[in-house]
Amino acid sequence: MATSLVTKPAAKGGSFLLESASPADVFTPADITDDQKLIGQTAEEFVVNEVLPHVKDLENKKAGLMPELVKKAGELGLMGGGVPEEYGGGGLDKISATVLTEKLSIYGGFAVTHGAHAGIGTLPIVYFGTEEQKKKYLPKLASGEWIGAYCLSEPQAGSDAQNSLTRAELNKEGTHYILNGQKMWITNGGFADLYVVFAKIDGEKFTAFLVERTFPGCKPGNEEHKMGIHGSSTTPVFLENCRVPKENLLHEIGRGHIVAFNILNSGRFTLGASAVGGSKFVLTTAAKYAKERKAFGKQIGDFGMMKEKLAEMAIQLYAVESMVYRSAGNMESAMTAAAGSGDKIQTTMKTLEEYAIESSIAKVYGSEMLDFVVDEAVQIFGGYGFHEDYSVCRAYRDSRINRIFEGTNEINRMLIIQMLMKRAMGGQLALIPAAMKLADEILSGPSLEEAPEGVLADEARVVANAKKMFLQAAGGAVQKFRDKLADEQELIGALANVVMEIYAMESCLLRAQKAAAARGAAASQVMIDATRVFISDAAERVEHESRRAIAAVHEGDMLTTQAAVLKRFAKRGTVNTIALRRNVAAAVQGQESVSV
Ligand SMILES: Cc1cc2nc3c(=O)[nH]c(=O)nc-3n(C[C@H](O)[C@H](O)[C@H](O)COP(=O)(O)OP(=O)(O)OC[C@H]3O[C@@H](n4cnc5c(N)ncnc54)[C@H](O)[C@@H]3O)c2cc1C
Repeated sequence: MATSLVTKPAAKGGSFLLESASPADVFTPADITDDQKLIGQTAEEFVVNEVLPHVKDLENKKAGLMPELVKKAGELGLMGGGVPEEYGGGGLDKISATVLTEKLSIYGGFAVTHGAHAGIGTLPIVYFGTEEQKKKYLPKLASGEWIGAYCLSEPQAGSDAQNSLTRAELNKEGTHYILNGQKMWITNGGFADLYVVFAKIDGEKFTAFLVERTFPGCKPGNEEHKMGIHGSSTTPVFLENCRVPKENLLHEIGRGHIVAFNILNSGRFTLGASAVGGSKFVLTTAAKYAKERKAFGKQIGDFGMMKEKLAEMAIQLYAVESMVYRSAGNMESAMTAAAGSGDKIQTTMKTLEEYAIESSIAKVYGSEMLDFVVDEAVQIFGGYGFHEDYSVCRAYRDSRINRIFEGTNEINRMLIIQMLMKRAMGGQLALIPAAMKLADEILSGPSLEEAPEGVLADEARVVANAKKMFLQAAGGAVQKFRDKLADEQELIGALANVVMEIYAMESCLLRAQKAAAARGAAASQVMIDATRVFISDAAERVEHESRRAIAAVHEGDMLTTQAAVLKRFAKRGTVNTIALRRNVAAAVQGQESVSV
């Protein structure tokens, strides 16, 4: 088991909106230990040496090939990172698990297979299984001997997963549940050995079951004809009088939603880490091509517009990487702090819930960043980017699914605000007092504030003001719509966008400041430049979204006043982002593989 060196007290979930963390308190990729790096290196070498050479066959779904690779990866300990050591897994800490996911995500088809198997297909048993269920299934799943899958969606029930029509009835003898229904879009469906299936007992009580492929009546259907991730398997799973032994009921009757949603919380964070790995590979590929391809007698990478693309890809990637590792550090700190004070699994579940907002942010921002990166990579490749022989073409198709599964990005945007409100109402997050304090401050007019000093001081002020813009917009929205806020989806979307930008801006800022404190500003110049560009652009997005929000809440004189206040919070210097992006591009172009 890799041990983490995270010892700082964890910031509470969502607290980044209210408090300003110190750079020393955040975990950054520079804090990854040698042991953790080694796990990443093993994973990366496995994908490069064992998976990438077979991509063509995998994309053509050569029978048995993906299960064989899963088994090989399992033998190296890459398939059971989340499984405790006593059941044959790696028992990895959160940072190591994040590094592992990142490095296994170079190729979409394998990344998705791994995520469905090691994440949503295995973790329900880790978190909710009985001792017998754990002993029976986890060693096989951790070694890759068996492959797992997660069957929540149905033809009529995706986002609305609890609208399940799959039924389970206990047989007369009381020995088996009889399952009937159809599951849809099941990753690993074609070759999984074990399916976590959700069904309603007597059509009412939503419950999870562990269904082995060989149980009578369990019938995986044909492969779906998808837009991308052709290397992965996606099939329906038909349950026709499927006999499931009573002891294979997972967790409690009527508590399937607890299993389903906690597992999705974990899956969302993992998807963010996976987006980091996928986009690093694509950016490295695009930067290499820009060096090799010539036009008008020059390398295309020498053209300003190409440099700008490479720089922006790297900057957005830097933002997501900073958020993902900051969140992983907080989760690890929370779990370390709670260690010894109770059941480890319960602690993990609590931690997943505590950082559910950050996990949804990782999912949404990560998937949208990856889509941007693959799109720009295709553009850098020109016509060749549109050809199946080039990996960026495949990456473009593979990326698109990430905005749809693990809760669509619309559902996750709503969750971000719902969870914030829940934490505010429950007193875990002092959002309401902070919004009231800000309202008083607005009434009493501008005050002389202590100006931040040091590296990125202007950017620190911009981030602090972005938090005020959020409180202003969200405070007004809650006051006006109260318990009807959920019906104002466009407004919720705008507020969620502001929340995400704040987390992204601050994570970039703190990482760059921490690097500057450790290595000096000169040695961290690229990171500082990337941070300045990111914050300059993100501040514009925050202002735009906040303005949309206040316009939907206020009218007349009140709107004029609120808009004037917003303008004050949005005041900032003008940054030469063209020059700064050139610096970032030069750094990207000077590397073999990309990191900022
Ligand atoms: C390749 C692939 C692999 C998958 N793997 C799995 C798997 O392994 N296991 C599994 O269980 N599922 C899996 N899924 C299913 C996936 O989770 C669902 O497709 C997803 O949850 C969306 O559900 P849906 O397709 O029914 O779309 P819908 O729920 O019908 O949504 C359609 C659109 O409406 C929007 N929408 C829906 N409800 C709301 C709302 N309340 N407010 C605003 N907008 C809304 C959505 O955001 C979306 O844009 C997979 C899907 C694909 C394509």
